[in-house]
Amino acid sequence: MATTARRSDELLQREDRALADVIKIRFYPFSAASARGMRMIDADGRSYLDMTGSGGVAQTGYGHPAVRDAIVQAVDRQHTAMLCCHSHPAATDLAERLCALLPGDFEKKAWFGTTGSDANDCLARLLPLATGRRRLVSFVGGYHGTTSGSAALSGHQAQAAVIGGGHVTKVPYPDPYRCLHGPCSRDGCSLKCLEHLERYALGAVSPAADTAAIVIEAVQSDGGEIVPPANFLPALRELCDRHGIWLVFDEVKVGLGRTGTMFAFERSGVVADAVTLGKPLGGGLPLSAVVGRRELLDVDTYSLFTLGGSPVPVAAGLATLDVIEAEGLVANAAAMGRRLLEGLEAIAGRSRLVGDVRGSGLILGVELVGDRVTREPAPVDAHRLVYRLFELGVLAIYSGLHGNVIELTPPLVITAAEVDEFLGVFERALADVEAGGFDDAKLAPYAGW
Ligand code: PMP
Repeated sequence: MATTARRSDELLQREDRALADVIKIRFYPFSAASARGMRMIDADGRSYLDMTGSGGVAQTGYGHPAVRDAIVQAVDRQHTAMLCCHSHPAATDLAERLCALLPGDFEKKAWFGTTGSDANDCLARLLPLATGRRRLVSFVGGYHGTTSGSAALSGHQAQAAVIGGGHVTKVPYPDPYRCLHGPCSRDGCSLKCLEHLERYALGAVSPAADTAAIVIEAVQSDGGEIVPPANFLPALRELCDRHGIWLVFDEVKVGLGRTGTMFAFERSGVVADAVTLGKPLGGGLPLSAVVGRRELLDVDTYSLFTLGGSPVPVAAGLATLDVIEAEGLVANAAAMGRRLLEGLEAIAGRSRLVGDVRGSGLILGVELVGDRVTREPAPVDAHRLVYRLFELGVLAIYSGLHGNVIELTPPLVITAAEVDEFLGVFERALADVEAGGFDDAKLAPYAGW
């Protein structure tokens, strides 16, 4: 046992001396060596069931042969290219494919970058230029990236230290469990937060006639896996239409099948003027996209990255879409998400720490509270729980504005047996944390977020 621990520990100590803290959010001492399907293997050969999907990236599971083959063939054919100056056909194929997937009866185009951040940065630049309106509205708790433009759109504590973005007004996200206006339910609510948006944001600080777009996640992920009430997005669309404001969805984490529909916003039946995609789009390689109205993407300026849309990530992206379609992963996300949600709800009924369980397909959140009546957040228990899961062979992280929501975003290839395996470990880890006696000294080196 002692030898097993040393290998990972040694690698982590070397990393600690060499790798900047500003790119780390760490929850436990894990050093990855390889990955296959739903499993990650650490530096000591120990296997873990990965319920993070690397932050909602590994849609087709790790090392899917079709994605791997597409990557290898693309490397052999042309290992790089600068799309901004030299056309290559695979980028056109992927652009056509994404435009065809996006609902809406209007002319569309696609743009390519490398990360979710740069896609949202592109939006932040283009929306005011395309509309002649200077301001944007987004939501408290939204995470849109760490470049200046995408951080300005964000309302998450991770970007709280960033200065700028005075032209972006942040409004409350509808959170049925922590509704400011209450009572609020998942099926429908009073829409008091939209009244706030219209009256105070668009009526005063961000005048409607000077507001280009409202940018939103259809399920708020890093903000705590919050699923808005069913009547919210249709009402938001109606409000946008009334004021001539575009409605733009950040689908970087919840798009490409994760919620049980290809785009997360589709469940609500509304149409998006544009979406951003990233994370799973490149099958694990850096690729992002903005897909939306032609007049947004043909604005007379530049928003480009030398490696945006280069051949290898694009080939991986086309293969990823093929696998999602051929293996019915959108339907699997819906079915496995339901199984996971029901299992978690049953566990919650036997637990004193779980205040809420929620999700849409394979993005789920388990919110931990110190008291189920006052709903006081329990972030330390969330950290203990993900650490205990790690000790028992499951990778998970926590999220949310209070740092108390266990986030589950596994690969969409997860099977019923793997869901059940996870539920068994989760119930045991939760019971261990609830029993008390967890050694908090183990958490000290891991600040999480
Ligand atoms: N948008 C959303 C909704 C995200 O969750 C994230 C990352 N967590 C981003 C954008 C930024 O993506 P990236 O880290 O690839 O820049």
